[in-house]
Amino acid sequence: MATVSPLIFHPRKTAVSGPRDAYGRTMNYLRISLTDRCNFRCMYCMPAVGMQFQPREELLTDDELIRLVGLFAETGVTKLRLTGGEPTIRPHLVDLVRQFKSFPNIRELSMTTNALLLSRIAGDLKDAGLDRINVSIDTLDPVRFRFMTRGGRFDMVWAGIEEADRVGLGAIKLNSVVLRGQNDHEVAEMARLTIDRPWQVRFLEIMPMEGVGLVYDEGLVTSEETHLELEKHFGPLEQLPAHPSDPARMWKIPGAQGTIGFISPMSEPFCDTCNRVRLTADGNLRLCLLHSDELNLRDRIRSGATDAEIVATIRGGIWRKPWGHHVHERQMHTVRGMSQIGG
Ligand code: SAM
Ligand code: SF4
Repeated sequence: MATVSPLIFHPRKTAVSGPRDAYGRTMNYLRISLTDRCNFRCMYCMPAVGMQFQPREELLTDDELIRLVGLFAETGVTKLRLTGGEPTIRPHLVDLVRQFKSFPNIRELSMTTNALLLSRIAGDLKDAGLDRINVSIDTLDPVRFRFMTRGGRFDMVWAGIEEADRVGLGAIKLNSVVLRGQNDHEVAEMARLTIDRPWQVRFLEIMPMEGVGLVYDEGLVTSEETHLELEKHFGPLEQLPAHPSDPARMWKIPGAQGTIGFISPMSEPFCDTCNRVRLTADGNLRLCLLHSDELNLRDRIRSGATDAEIVATIRGGIWRKPWGHHVHERQMHTVRGMSQIGG
């Protein structure tokens, strides 16, 4: 397998805090979409047919990506999450992880994955410097799993989770988008995983992203409904203190080793504590998941911009990061689907 070229950028200094936006929020967290492609077609993320993928020449090369991550680190970004599409199908993933983690400012590197291919590479990812993973898994029923992911293999995903746990990519977090009539009757089974494992099971509200509007209309289950359903099975859940910039509201089943998180973008938006921006696979700095305001960093790189110019562009872009969204009014300011942004 080819490897990416040696480190091409060395940060000049250690920034003390991330760049700020006009509302005073500090952005120290970058989510990087490594590809817009995926080996699943989850019903809440992609349409069944008609998905358009970008030509490969429009995606950032490894060297461009490494250079940009170094420049984000220089602005004060300390935390990275690799996502997609499906990040494990990006060629040279292990080498990219190693390069990203070699920037001194990068203190935490995690990945969100569907885990289909994880069991083969979890150990290499850990050795290369990956700290943690989140796995998207919406059901423990293999037949339903195949239906919801439109073809996914539950046994392979579960093997990936167990291997990640074994090699120390924990504490494992499992993300489950709760959909009415699909997996909403199974939330207690998912939550039960936390009783004797130190994992975090997180229940997400579906968002009406491009291409999944009908699934949203029929499927949204609020966190409050999921919470009530869990309490029918386990009695009152214990509330835990939340980290201020973590969108999950944390609870646990009394006596359980692990925890339960609720992520409620529809019923309880969390713009005030947002500390994240995104880099799309085609090299756009995306300021908010739910707004299409983006800055094209790839073209600046390809037209010869200096490091200082790109850093200035990143800082200027972050300054104008928006606040609030209009998802309830269905006036979405985005034409990208979730798989093209990375969640
Ligand atoms: N393929 C990887 C995975 O599934 O974990 C990473 C990319 S995926 C787009 C990132 C996260 O977005 C997943 O946890 C997925 O459940 C979530 N997601 C996708 N579509 C969503 C939607 N319409 N509403 C809420 N979450 C969504
Ligand atoms: Fe792929 Fe992740 Fe979207 Fe599922 S949620 S289709 S695994 S990108």
